[in-house]
Formats: sequence, structure tokens, C-alpha cells
Amino acid sequence: MTCPCGSNINYETCCGVFHASGQTVPTAQTLMRSRYSAFAKHEIDYLKQTTWPPYQKHFDEAGYFSRAKDSIWLGLGILDSEDGKESDTKGTVTFIAKSMLNGELIEQREKSLFKKKNGVWYYVKAVG
Ligand SMILES: [Zn+2]
Repeated sequence: MTCPCGSNINYETCCGVFHASGQTVPTAQTLMRSRYSAFAKHEIDYLKQTTWPPYQKHFDEAGYFSRAKDSIWLGLGILDSEDGKESDTKGTVTFIAKSMLNGELIEQREKSLFKKKNGVWYYVKAVG
């Protein structure tokens, strides 16, 4: 199957690589894509592991899991990104994530902050 992140390549050779192996993503935008795919594939551990470490203890696994499995994931669009490249230590990605929940179309638009620590990118929080 093609990857839920919209890359038009196979899931196993796209975000599936990061979900399965724990291999670190090169850029903030790749992390954004792989986190969207993690929702679509119910990879809740991946969502937790890629959350900024100090925030992981507040991570609501049950909440994320029911949101992930109760939704139909329709696609991700990257609208903008600032920094977040391999040579950066932080960056933002603005996206729109489309899903269907209880028969209702949800278009979540968010500007997310990502930071890198010890060479690993993490999702920090929404900043817009
Ligand atoms: Zn992907």
C-alpha cells in the first residue's frame, strides 16, 4: 500500500522504515509525515517516542489510540516549513491533516514546533 503520508511510495519503504526500526528521521518535515502515518497505522508507541521527552509522561496513550482507530485518515498536506533541516536543531511545520471521525470531516490545521536533542528530532507542541 502507498504510505498514508502522501509520498506516493510504498509504506514499507517510506514512514514504515521509521515505525519499524526506530531509525531516526533526518528532518522535522519527515517526522511530521511519519507521525501522521503513525496515526493512520495505529503506531501509538511511535507517537509517544517522538514526543519531546519531558512531555512523554503526560502522553495520553489511550486517548491517542482511540482517536487513531476511530478515524479514517484521508491525507496530509504540508503547507509550510521553516528550518528543521538536517543541520538545524529546531523548526516548524505547518500542515493540514484530514480525517473523518464519526461521519464528520475534520481538517486539522496546525503549526507544529519540532526540536532536535542528541541528534534526534521530536515533536514539541503546536505553536499556531
Ligand atoms: Zn510516508
